[in-house]
Amino acid sequence: MSRFVYADNAATTAVKPEVISEMMPYFTDKWGNPSSLHKKGREAAIALEEARARIAACLGAEAKEIYFTSCGSESDNWAIKGAAALGRAKGKTHIITSKIEHHAVLHTCEALEKDGFEVTYVGVDAEGFVNVDEIKTAISDKTAVVAIMTANNEIGTIEPIAEIAKIAHAHGALMFTDAVQAVGNIPVDVRALGVDMLALSGHKIHTPKGIGALYIKKGVRIRNLIDGGGQERGKRGGTENLPYIMGLARAMELAVERLPKMAEVARLRDRLRDELLKIPHTSLNGPRADEKRLPGNLNIGFEYIEGESISLLLDAEGICVSTGSACASASLDPSHVLLATGVPHERAHGSVRFSISDDTTAEDIDYILEKLPPVITRLREMSPLYSEAKAAHLI
Ligand code: PLP
Repeated sequence: MSRFVYADNAATTAVKPEVISEMMPYFTDKWGNPSSLHKKGREAAIALEEARARIAACLGAEAKEIYFTSCGSESDNWAIKGAAALGRAKGKTHIITSKIEHHAVLHTCEALEKDGFEVTYVGVDAEGFVNVDEIKTAISDKTAVVAIMTANNEIGTIEPIAEIAKIAHAHGALMFTDAVQAVGNIPVDVRALGVDMLALSGHKIHTPKGIGALYIKKGVRIRNLIDGGGQERGKRGGTENLPYIMGLARAMELAVERLPKMAEVARLRDRLRDELLKIPHTSLNGPRADEKRLPGNLNIGFEYIEGESISLLLDAEGICVSTGSACASASLDPSHVLLATGVPHERAHGSVRFSISDDTTAEDIDYILEKLPPVITRLREMSPLYSEAKAAHLI
C-alpha cells in the first residue's frame, strides 16, 4: 500500500492548523499597524507585545529581549555582523565559529573575513561535537563573538553551549547560538545556556515561512539591522509582520507543549536506525548517545551508492528525505558537516538524513522500512563501485 511519509522536518515542517487559526484574525480583521496611535493600531500593538511576551516565556527570556526577523538566516546574519561591527569599534576583530555551522553562519563569517575580520573555524570530532579545547586556544581579548550552533541540522549533535558561553564570557566575547534546529526538539532556555544571542526560525516549528526571531540579552549591544521607524526598539525597522508573529507565538507554545512527546519520537527514530543498520555496508553518522542527538534526527551512510539517487527513488514511493541541509542539497558537493566529522567523500555522498517529528507514526516507520531496503539493493545492483568492490572480494 502506498502512503505519504514526510521525513524531512529539518528542512521545513508542515504548517499546523492551530498556527493558522491564530494568524487568521490578523489578516482579516485586526490588520492595524502597531505603530498607529488609534484604536486599530492599539489593538495590533497589544497583540504584538503579547506575542513577544509569550515567545519570551517559552525561552526563559524577557519580552524586551525578543526581536522579530524574517527567518533564521536573517537572525544569524544580524547576530554575527551586528556583534562584529560593535566589536571592531573596541578593537575586537576576531570571530570563532565551527566548521559544521549552517551556511547562514559560515557565509556570514566568510563575508566578515573579506571585511578584515579574522575567523577561527574550530573542528569537530567524529560525532560532530565541537572541539572546546580549540576554542580555548583560539580565544583572546580580540574575540568579538563566538558563534556555535545549539544543535546541528544534518547529524543532530547537541553542542555544549553553556560550557562554551562561559569560555566566551571569560574573555569578554559575546556568545551567539543558532538554535534553529533545537527549538521545538529539545528544551531551550537562554539563561541556562548562558548565551547573549540566540536565533530561531518559525518554519522549523510549523509556521509558514517568513518569520524568525533573535533573542538579544538585555544590556548586550549589537549594531542595528535595519534603520527605519522605531520598530523592534529601533534595531530592526519595518512595520511588523503581525499575522506571522502571532503564528510564531502559538507555534512556540505548541513546541514547548510537545517536548514531553519527543521521547516517543526518539524511540521511533531508534527503531528506524536499528533496522537500517542491519542493511550491509551502512553506518550511522553523528552522535552514538541518544541524549546527545536531536530526537528526530537520523543520518545514515549507505556505501557504494549516491544519497541523491536514494532520495529520488524514495520520493517516487512517497517518502521525503534529504541528503543534507535543504539549502545545500541541490548541490552535488558532499556535506561539509559530514566531511568535518571525518566521513570520507564516498560515504558522505551516500548519506541520507531522516528527520521525523511528533506527526510521524509507527506505520510511517514501517513504510520506510518496507520501501528503503529494495531501493538500496536496486541501486547497488547498478553501482559500478559496488561491482568493483565485489570483484575485488572487498565485500
Ligand atoms: N540555521 C540552521 C541550523 C538551519 O537548519 C537553518 C535552516 O535550515 C537555518 C539556520 C536557516 O533558517 P531559515 O530557513 O529560516 O533562514
